[in-house]
Amino acid sequence: MAELLIRNGSVFDPSRGINGDVMDVAIRDGRIVESVGSAAKVIDATGKTVMAGGVDVHSHVAGPKVNAGRTMRPEDKLFKSPMASAGNRMEMGFSIPSTFKTGYDYARMGYAFVMEAAMPPLHSAHVHEEIHDTPIIDEAALPVFANNWFVMEYLKRGEIENAAAYTAWILNATKGYGIKAVNPGGTEAWGWGLNCLTLDDQVPFFQITPKEIISGLIKTNEYLGLPHSLHLHQNDLGNPGNFRTTIDSLRLAEGITATNKFGREQVLHSTHLQFHSYGGDNWGNFESKAREVANYVNGQKNITFDLGCVTLDETTTMTADGPFEHHLNSLNHLKWTNVDVEVETAAGVVPYIYSPKIKVCGIQWAIGLELALLCTDLNRCFVTTDHPNAGPFTRYPRIYSWLMSQKYRQATLDSFKHSAKVVDATEIASLDRELSLYEIAQMTRSGPAKALGLGNLYGGLSPGMDGNVVVYDLDPAALPSDPEVLEAAFQRASWFVKTGEIVVKDGEIMGHGNKRTLWVNAKVPENPQVRRDVHDKFLKDYTVGLDTYHVRDYLLPNPYVIEVDMEA
Ligand SMILES: [Zn+2]
Repeated sequence: MAELLIRNGSVFDPSRGINGDVMDVAIRDGRIVESVGSAAKVIDATGKTVMAGGVDVHSHVAGPKVNAGRTMRPEDKLFKSPMASAGNRMEMGFSIPSTFKTGYDYARMGYAFVMEAAMPPLHSAHVHEEIHDTPIIDEAALPVFANNWFVMEYLKRGEIENAAAYTAWILNATKGYGIKAVNPGGTEAWGWGLNCLTLDDQVPFFQITPKEIISGLIKTNEYLGLPHSLHLHQNDLGNPGNFRTTIDSLRLAEGITATNKFGREQVLHSTHLQFHSYGGDNWGNFESKAREVANYVNGQKNITFDLGCVTLDETTTMTADGPFEHHLNSLNHLKWTNVDVEVETAAGVVPYIYSPKIKVCGIQWAIGLELALLCTDLNRCFVTTDHPNAGPFTRYPRIYSWLMSQKYRQATLDSFKHSAKVVDATEIASLDRELSLYEIAQMTRSGPAKALGLGNLYGGLSPGMDGNVVVYDLDPAALPSDPEVLEAAFQRASWFVKTGEIVVKDGEIMGHGNKRTLWVNAKVPENPQVRRDVHDKFLKDYTVGLDTYHVRDYLLPNPYVIEVDMEA
């Protein structure tokens, strides 16, 4: 039996309310246990911080749009490309890293799980090929639904049962995890040169509105009892004044309770909320509405959200929100890639430079941090950059540092060309809250794991859970005052143990772990109508045949299947 003891560390495990207690963590055969024998390998964590492996609820790390970004931006590879060494693979790319670098960098930061946040069903094989290629970190992927012709036709007729049967079929065919909605109706409308910027805009030819799509998908999700809630990228992303549409969207969850067996308490996850908390009505009077949005979310216990923090880097934006990418390209005139995914969705890719010299970028930076600092329940607020849209995931340690130090926030603010204007348009300068290691662990471990219905596997250190444990070279009793030292400690863990195997030591990759792909197998009663609709639409509207649509099993050599059975 493989036994491991992480001895004497300061443990932060919000899933059990453990806040820096000095204790041991024991692992046997890949799982956390109460204790191990005297022959166990010992890792000395004295004077160091110990947490469960991190959980990233929203990131774009695999699939056609990520690959399109790599292809169109060879310059992204120039930023950092360490050579292969010691049996590891060459690493390259900054905002759109190679699959190998993606796996290694998440491991170095002590992350155990990442959700690929937008899988076009038609291209799910490509998504799984890249997931398969990414070492160490466990992954799952969310198929996109909110511009899908089947879904819009079922929901406009109020046919939740049929929408649920179709959703279950897609999850099985694509080996997907849950329901993602991107700019509901707007991406389909863009096929006609239009968009849906408010919840009441009609989707051309479908006689349905974003409001009906969002409400219908929440109901579909709870009807099925999936482990995660509806995962929503709201309409009107990235535009001044969009906070009203955001709050209108969140209101659609009011009065709905979660129905599932996974411990999930929320019915709606609002993603990259930074991009949706904008005031003003043009870029000249653009301002933060983080307080309005945070106040609403604080009062609604059935909503979770992630931040989408701007990290002030040159990056590569990519989203199924096709009309937004077209709009962004008309603002910055850099490169633009655009794809229509027949029947289902679309996507765009545009490089972007969040410059500290630009007032709008400074305000965006402030909004992401404000949302966390104004949040009263950090178990419902998760750290993301919507990688790579607001910045690369490798900047999470810098975000922790900003959240933990007002002095560091002020220093960054002072470095802006238009710092006075950023102060005027935001509250960031007056927020003196400094988050603790416990709160960082809530936002990166216990909170996201629970929201994904994975609280029994990830995000905590209870016996029976996966043996994912990270040791950071940070003494909680004497945290470094230099934000760069704090950031470096989170960037390169002293140790990271992934399902019982040491994969990182002193920030270096030691092994490729036993990477796993999670998906949800939802069983619903036999539905002849949906079966017929799928058959007919593949003949009539798709350019591919139904028999080539399913993801093949060999792409998931180490699957973890979560069973949901409506009939049981
Ligand atoms: Zn995203």
